[in-house]
This record gives sequence, C-alpha cells and structure tokens, in this order.
Amino acid sequence: MKKRRIIITALCCMLASSALCACQPEQKSDSNGSIVSEQTESQEKQSEEAAQEEYTEDVFAMDTYMTLTAYGEHAQEAVKAGIQEIERLDALWSTGNENSEIAAINRDGGGVLSDETLYLVNRALELYESTEGAFDISIYPVMDLWGFTTGDFSVPTESELQQTMALVGADRLQIKTDDETGESTLSMEKGMQIDLGGIAKGYTSGRVMDIFREYGVTSAIINLGGNVFVLGNKTDGSKWKVGIQDPEDETASLGGIAISNKAVITSGGYERYFEDEDTGIKYHHIIDPKTGSSANNGLISVTIISEDGTLADGLSTSLFVMGTEDAVTYCEEHCETDGFDVIMETESGEIYITDDLVEDFIDINGNTSLKTIETK
Ligand code: AMP
Ligand code: MG
Repeated sequence: MKKRRIIITALCCMLASSALCACQPEQKSDSNGSIVSEQTESQEKQSEEAAQEEYTEDVFAMDTYMTLTAYGEHAQEAVKAGIQEIERLDALWSTGNENSEIAAINRDGGGVLSDETLYLVNRALELYESTEGAFDISIYPVMDLWGFTTGDFSVPTESELQQTMALVGADRLQIKTDDETGESTLSMEKGMQIDLGGIAKGYTSGRVMDIFREYGVTSAIINLGGNVFVLGNKTDGSKWKVGIQDPEDETASLGGIAISNKAVITSGGYERYFEDEDTGIKYHHIIDPKTGSSANNGLISVTIISEDGTLADGLSTSLFVMGTEDAVTYCEEHCETDGFDVIMETESGEIYITDDLVEDFIDINGNTSLKTIETK
C-alpha cells in the first residue's frame, strides 16, 4: 500500500511528524513469558499496526485539488469510495457540466429536483433567510458577468451590473411539491440561474465522512480545496491540528486549531481573484449580493468550525460577505444554538475568535492577540 504524508498546511505537516514520535507503542513488561502471552502481544501489535495503516489519494474535482487520507484496515476502500462520492456530487451540481442537474435547471428556468439537490437548495434558502440575503445561490449571473465562471475576467459597467443584478434574489426561487407524486419542482424567472458553489463542498465533505464511518474508519482527514474535515482523532489519540492559511502569505498560517470530528472551512478573497490592469484593484469570487461586486466589508478570512460541513461552508461565505460587525453579531446570536465556532481575520490584522475555541487555538506566531466573541 502506498503511504504518503498528509499535506494540509505547513502546520499540519509539522504536527504530523511530531505525532509519529508520540505514537510509538509502549514497552510492556512480560510477566510470565508464556507462548500465549507472546501470541496475544503479537496479535495486539498487528491490530495496532492495522489501525495506523495510512492511505492517501489526491483528486481534482469541483474545480479544486482535494486530498483524502484515512487510517486503518479499510482505509484504501474508504478513500476510493469517498472519491467516487465526490465525483458523483460534482457531476450532479457542476454549473460547468452541461449534463448536471444544476446546468439543466439553469438552462430550463427550473425543473424537478432530486432529493439531494432539494435538500441542499433548502439549506441554502435557510441561510439566505438567516443571513438576510448575504448568502444567495441566485448570484450566478453576476459571477458570470465578472467572468468567474469562465476565467474571461472583466469589470462590468454600472449599467451591465444593474441589469444583471435584476436577476438576483433567492426569495424569487419557488419550490412546489406535488401532493400526489411527492416531486418538488423549482421554478425561477427567465434569466435567473443558481450555483451551489458556496455550500456544495461542505456538504460533500460531510458525505465523505459518513462513507468513511460506514467502512469502519475512525481516524481520517480530508481537504477539499481548503475545506478540511477531520474524523475522530489522530492514530496516537491526540486531536487533529489544522492550520488556517494566512490570507496575505500562502506559505504561512495565521494560526491553528486542535479539533476532532469537525469541519474547518475557510472563505477568503485570496482564493480566486483577478486584478484590473487599469486600476490595480483586485476583484475576488465572493460577491456581495447588495452591490454585485466582490464583498469588501472588512474581513479577509473567515473560518467556520462545525460538525455540520454544509453549515460551515455556507456560513464561511456568508460571514465573509456580512463583514466584521454583522458577522460578530450573527455569531453572538447563532453560534451556540446552531452549533458552530468562528475564527475571522480583519483587514487590519485583528483575529476574532468565539469563546469556546480560545483554548484550542494554536498560536503559531507566538504573539497573536485574540478578540473573543461571547456566544453565551
Ligand atoms: P466559498 O469559497 O465557499 O466562500 O464559496 C465561494 C463560491 O460561492 C463562489 O465561487 C460562488 O460560486 C459562490 N458565491 C459567491 N458569492 C456568493 C454569495 N454571496 N452567496 C452564495 N454563494 C456565493
Ligand atoms: Mg462556502
């Protein structure tokens, strides 16, 4: 079996190598020296080794590089099944794949939703409500106008922007369920289009974790293009340590977090952007539905930590759009009840963190001053 070291961030690598020292098997005292005892010890050793067997595979899907690593006897089968699931969901929701369910809906102005698409669209609409429109899956025509869907970037004129913004507003997406057939149909006005890109990878990471559990995996870490999800603890029993990228230096981390069984999902303008040659202004892929332009409300990075990958993904995008003040208020009102924690960096370099997370924060730089968000 091919073994490779996990590369999530510089921090992860650093701690993965120290973990190797920590998980050396302890010396046992051999009290009677009997054969039975020797056999038991060797069986125990074998099962310990099986539990620590690592399998890693990379895949390019959903427009990003992904790495899946699992430990234990069924690690390889679990990772292979996880990749199949990622590819299935990519084929279902990719806006760029004309055969996907979302591409068909966008082409036809709606259509019957599969159960899974219905689930994710409903989660997205719940977020639209609770974030007062910061999270809006109907933003797709605006993404397209700026060239984020094709890579053919250009800054639109004010009138182009206004015209396209007239097609945005998730409150105009209608879902009706037929009482007899149970089928749910989405309909939207001509020209409206949807995109699950702000939430789909989080849902997918949760599905991969479900599959890993079905295979009996108890220790795993996956990174779907910056969307990390960890299962259980490391094989030495300690918590996983996940670094959060420094938005201003892709080789550095702004800090890290020690966790188990959680998604750690970050949104930042540094992930996808282009620079206007005339003005030198950088425009990124997270759009503020109030303006139709890249969100620019004081935050440069938002990380959400939650057992619910879908929520973490949707909220990282949402809070980035909301900006510092509204994001802090949202956390104060929702973190405790909805089950998530936050680490955010502002453009002036302040780090906000929810109170529950403070003791698990790893201060890599040694002098990070944290602003605590009270959630209780
Ligand atoms: P993320 O990297 O999770 O923050 O998601 C960014 C992606 O979400 C973009 O590439 C778009 O596909 C989509 N997106 C951009 N702005 C919004 C928004 N305001 N609400 C919902 N989805 C968005
Ligand atoms: Mg997101």
